[in-house]
Amino acid sequence: MIDRIPVPAGEKIVFLTFDDGAEKDPEFLKMAADLKLPISMFLTDSVASSDYGHFERLRDNGSASTVNNHTLTHPNLRTLSFEAQKKEICGQQDKLEKRFGQRPPLFRPPFGNYNDDTLRAASECGVSSILLWKVSMQINNFQYAQGSALQPGDIILAHFRGPSELKGATEVQMTTRMLQRIQEQGYKIGRLEDYL
Ligand SMILES: [Zn+2]
Repeated sequence: MIDRIPVPAGEKIVFLTFDDGAEKDPEFLKMAADLKLPISMFLTDSVASSDYGHFERLRDNGSASTVNNHTLTHPNLRTLSFEAQKKEICGQQDKLEKRFGQRPPLFRPPFGNYNDDTLRAASECGVSSILLWKVSMQINNFQYAQGSALQPGDIILAHFRGPSELKGATEVQMTTRMLQRIQEQGYKIGRLEDYL
């Protein structure tokens, strides 16, 4: 279980993760490519699969973004049996491998909810690490699990969301604010996979 990445002492680096996959805004793709934002995506089949091509373009835009597993249907895994959890996790591993040509190394349980069965199922599905987070981006600001500022190695959770879920803000506007919050605290963005 990983909720913060060990980074070299004194390096103010944080990591971007985007979840689910409901919003598919081409302007966001442009922004991510222009700024070369390395994004670790955690995709849920039921919302992302209407256009996996969108996320493939994000992966292939020169930013070295990656595609990872966030289940087939986004259930609270704690309420499911081991077998049902395995279906959710392995099922999405299979779909993503078929669509993107690689079996994702990382898995994130919806809502951050998991139990011992989740760990066993994820491992049997070929996941090497389970990723949680320390900071989540809302519409304008961060919400911190601890304290009131970023810390080195923080994993930031954001979502592929658009105006209907962001009170009218676009995905680009939300991301712009997030980048400002990171910059004003003196942090840089790293590529998570390079530090695992
Ligand atoms: Zn989610």
